[in-house]
Amino acid sequence: MKKVVKFGGSSLASARQFKKVGDIIRADKARRYVIPSAPGKRSSKDEKVTDLLYACYDAASSGESYKKILNKIKERYSEIINGLDLNVNLDHEFERIEDNFKKGVGRDYAASRGEYLNGILMAAYLGYEFIDAAEVIFFDDNGAFEAELTNRELSERLEHVERAVIPGFYGSKHDGTIKTFSRGGSDVTGSIVARAIHADLYENWTDVSGFLVTDPRIVENPEVIETITYKELRELAYMGASVLHEDAIFPVRREGIPINIRNTNRPEDKGTLIVESTCRKPRYTITGIAGKKGFCSINIEKAMMNAEVGFGRKVLGVFEKYGISFEHMPSGIDTMTILVHQDEFVEYEQSVIAGIHRAVEPDRVDLESDLALIAVVGRGMKATRGTAGRIFSALAHARINVKMIDQGSSELNIIIGVRNADFEAAVRAIYDIFIETEI
Ligand code: ASP
Repeated sequence: MKKVVKFGGSSLASARQFKKVGDIIRADKARRYVIPSAPGKRSSKDEKVTDLLYACYDAASSGESYKKILNKIKERYSEIINGLDLNVNLDHEFERIEDNFKKGVGRDYAASRGEYLNGILMAAYLGYEFIDAAEVIFFDDNGAFEAELTNRELSERLEHVERAVIPGFYGSKHDGTIKTFSRGGSDVTGSIVARAIHADLYENWTDVSGFLVTDPRIVENPEVIETITYKELRELAYMGASVLHEDAIFPVRREGIPINIRNTNRPEDKGTLIVESTCRKPRYTITGIAGKKGFCSINIEKAMMNAEVGFGRKVLGVFEKYGISFEHMPSGIDTMTILVHQDEFVEYEQSVIAGIHRAVEPDRVDLESDLALIAVVGRGMKATRGTAGRIFSALAHARINVKMIDQGSSELNIIIGVRNADFEAAVRAIYDIFIETEI
């Protein structure tokens, strides 16, 4: 059994957290490949080392004073070294980093040092081999991740390495320059390593006990999702639910490796298992509810619209011209509605309306702003009658007017549009009807 374990920044923010991580790793022999993030926040007011590194680099490379920030970074690592009694000295590493900052070697290099140094400490603490991610994770000259090359090199490199620490978040281009993934990218590294070693499981340790059915800022103490499929996760993540980096799904998904989201501060919790498909019945009819505010709808009316071939294409062409992506497009016989992100749209509002008039000569174009979209996602909906009925009666009871409904043919999700002002109440009403009343 082989497991890849990734620990997020808050799990490695201090010596105290490192000890918890050490206990977790030692508790299971299968936890052989460890991907650390950089030290994160110790409290809500604290700073992430990655953010300090960016700030330090910006100052150093533009000739401003940077020593104060650099010292803050050094202190973060000293606290861990001293707290764990490690026989490691990072002075040389810091000298090299400082030189490189002054030379202006790049922001990606700067940010990556957070995971690099944490990896050195983690390897020393566990007695595992340290493998610099720059030697095994590759990007092309344009900065695109090279999945196949990386997979080959990494599998080869790890074939005879029993236990290793590989820092998350970065790799290198062919000329040796350091390149990072986007923020939160250690999740991606973990997934890449899991694929390369054909792991049985990719454990992603963070500071929550898995995915919650809905946003805890809206519903107090929501239930944790036990099992979720990649597809469901994509739907929820797209609508704003975030625990895992979006790109972390792809490498393991191709290999059918499950991801288990776990909580470093509550290792006894089972967390959430993310799988390709499952016959485990979801506990409730729905798996999750996510949503976002700030949409606006463009309602187009034209008699006999349905008979006009190419009508939709011409309308969407106008949005394309201004680089606006549309989110949903419910339509009737003589009406078509396009939902877009309000902040993407406002700048081009008048040009788009004029463009639509020119392209399809509609009878009317109306705009409605301040809409929220809610996605109710669940593989269980397919087999259950009356899901939509329950959603809408719950909303009606809560006196919420539904502005739009969209259900894909996959029957994996139902999207509901409501006014921004009704958003929280609507999420609560849907949560209550499916979770509270099914408990
Ligand atoms: N340390 C990086 C960040 O703060 C990457 C990561 O934690 O995954 O975004």
